[in-house]
Amino acid sequence: MPDYDLIVIGAGPGGYVCAIRAAQLGKKTAIIDRQWLGGVCLNVGCIPSKALLRNAEIAHLLRHGGKDFGFEVQGLKLDFAAAVKRSRQVADRLVKGVGFLMKKNKIDVHMGAAAFVDAHTVEVTAADGTKSMLKGKDIVVATGASPMMIPGVQADGTRVLTYLEAIVQERLPKSVVVIGASAIGCEFATVWNSYGVEVTLIEMLPRVAPLEDEESSQELARAFVKRGMRVLVGTKVEGIESGDAGVKVKVSGADGAQTIEAEQALVAIGVKPNTQGLGLDKIGVKTSPRGLIEIDERMATNVPGVWAIGDVTGKLMLAHVASAMGIVAAERIAGAESVQLDYEAMPRAIYSQPQVASFGITEAQAKERGLEVKVGRFPFQANGKALGLGDYAGWVKLVTEAKYGEILGAHLVGPEVTELLPELTLARMLELTPAEIGRNVHAHPTLSEALMEAAHAAEGHPIHT
Ligand code: FAD
Repeated sequence: MPDYDLIVIGAGPGGYVCAIRAAQLGKKTAIIDRQWLGGVCLNVGCIPSKALLRNAEIAHLLRHGGKDFGFEVQGLKLDFAAAVKRSRQVADRLVKGVGFLMKKNKIDVHMGAAAFVDAHTVEVTAADGTKSMLKGKDIVVATGASPMMIPGVQADGTRVLTYLEAIVQERLPKSVVVIGASAIGCEFATVWNSYGVEVTLIEMLPRVAPLEDEESSQELARAFVKRGMRVLVGTKVEGIESGDAGVKVKVSGADGAQTIEAEQALVAIGVKPNTQGLGLDKIGVKTSPRGLIEIDERMATNVPGVWAIGDVTGKLMLAHVASAMGIVAAERIAGAESVQLDYEAMPRAIYSQPQVASFGITEAQAKERGLEVKVGRFPFQANGKALGLGDYAGWVKLVTEAKYGEILGAHLVGPEVTELLPELTLARMLELTPAEIGRNVHAHPTLSEALMEAAHAAEGHPIHT
């Protein structure tokens, strides 16, 4: 039986990054995946969706940008199948890259479903039913998550979709109901709306992007409505009937009960951890009532030698968080120097149009915690680069602690704000104050000047507003 220092179960952004870091630290490492290298993120999540969103941006510009940018397209034909094919190529290229990285780092890849035999032994069942056993001193569970469904509703892949079907669907529906207005729902809604699909976006909580700062939600909802989407918040889906003609989505909300008809429905209400069949109960790994694996700050479970990272722990279901957890787990296992992750300070991003990016606490949360805050804001309307791009909806909002200037959170809506966020997360990590961010000279004209301006505003002396 092959004997490893470390076995990683699941080759998503959590697992494969953990395996690489462990190999760098001298650990003889194996990785197991039942389906693919790269996990949800590379195959059906982050990467193909961002490729589709780029096509969507171009489609939107071609359909609506003529007046502002001075062009006219007669007989415009948009080939959505080509967009999906391009997104598959991007995904495949990165997945191959992970394979290359495994070889480069001398990590053994075993394709098959893994289950614990005991805390140091895993059985792997390959697609053809062949079974093999692997031994590992340490084992990291990085098995990710799968789409959650509305009780009583089943995804059939043609009328009722999850992201698994939607991301590879080459045909455009005429109309679609998107259920759930968090990142995945907002991103698919943006793609379809950009291609002229009639989109109804439904959210059970009182606002779109419900975990974001309230002002971000308002700005995003406003932009979606301006782009022609129908947005229903505080609206619960009671059931979905699907037939040959399409779907009938029964909802109840402030306006009472109604039925929304569309060609398809996308259910994007969240994900559930992949723990079934892993044999966690056999080895006594503690899970929460939702099935999430419980871990400490080192990523260790309650069973010595068994660790867990990424979506399966439910800390913050984002790829970069899974990777950061993977690095910490590998370093802890190897006894190397590491850090303690602050999940509240992790960057969060929605790649809709406009984009939403944030980290830390919202203004409301700061007040709930009894903190005295100073808020610095700057609108992209007053930013030369954004005006030049013709993309100036949104703003930067910096929430700081009033007395010492600690950055408590940042909330951004607008053009490429997901690319602006790292300056602020780095500033927070290095405990910089708004005064110091404001003193950092930013190239002109750049979108990043909006960060500097928001910092000046937090200090009470904005230049351009
Ligand atoms: P996963 O990526 O889910 O990988 C888990 C792996 O484990 C899978 O490959 C699976 O096959 C394997 N596995 C499961 N069970 C077993 C078993 N028993 N044996 C062997 N292998 C097993 N996040 C972002 O940060 N940015 C984004 O822009 C973003 N966009 C997204 C868009 C969409 C449409 C979706 C669905 C998600 C998106 N996410 C995004 C979320 C991101 O994909 C996840 O947070 C991330 O993939 C989690 O990584 P992970 O390694 O924990 O798990």
